[in-house]
Amino acid sequence: MIKVIGFDADDTLWVNEPNYQETESAFCKIVNAWVSEEETSRELFATEMANLELYGFGAKGFMLSMIETAIRLSKGSIESEKLDQIIKLGKELLDKPVELLPGVSTLLDQLQGKYTIILATKGDLLDQERKLRKSELESYFHHIEIMSDKREENYLKLLNRLEIQPAEFLMVGNSMKSDIMPVLNIGGYGVHVPFHINWLHDLTDFVPENSKFAQITEISKLTELLENI
Ligand SMILES: [Mg+2]
Repeated sequence: MIKVIGFDADDTLWVNEPNYQETESAFCKIVNAWVSEEETSRELFATEMANLELYGFGAKGFMLSMIETAIRLSKGSIESEKLDQIIKLGKELLDKPVELLPGVSTLLDQLQGKYTIILATKGDLLDQERKLRKSELESYFHHIEIMSDKREENYLKLLNRLEIQPAEFLMVGNSMKSDIMPVLNIGGYGVHVPFHINWLHDLTDFVPENSKFAQITEISKLTELLENI
């Protein structure tokens, strides 16, 4: 019997990755004076991964990684005007309007009252709170859980706090790696809703054989799925 449904936020409830890719593309054009856009993109990803433990996920860490990459690739010769442009790109990313994915509000309306709904997301607290406010979905959620990472131990801690068993928890998200696999591994339910663009970090082709796993093409199909669990 499922009691709590956790929703990932970025690219599950609202558009996120395309905004990052747009920012990255503008960044690569700035650094193109020194290195090709392709190489810049690769280097940026490497910097982000190296910084992940220090900065965590989110736009502010991304901004710092862009600056660090630009300085490294230009061998320290990048002008302050260009660094300023990069900072502006990061601020614009933080200030982007929130675009809900189709069917999200209707789905949350249908689930409200039947389940405890929580938002379980990685990223920067302030950034995610701001996005939630802009999304106007705040009232649907019992609470917002900002997780420093989405590994099995992070989910176990979350369930512990919620005082529920894994079999009473269902997680919905666009990332197999972060939203689905760890939840299945601890005995919960995972519903994958793929998004058309995925962050390199989240990519995986693996589809688990697990009776608690399902994949739906759009989030609105979740209600139908829940009736058959
Ligand atoms: Mg996501």
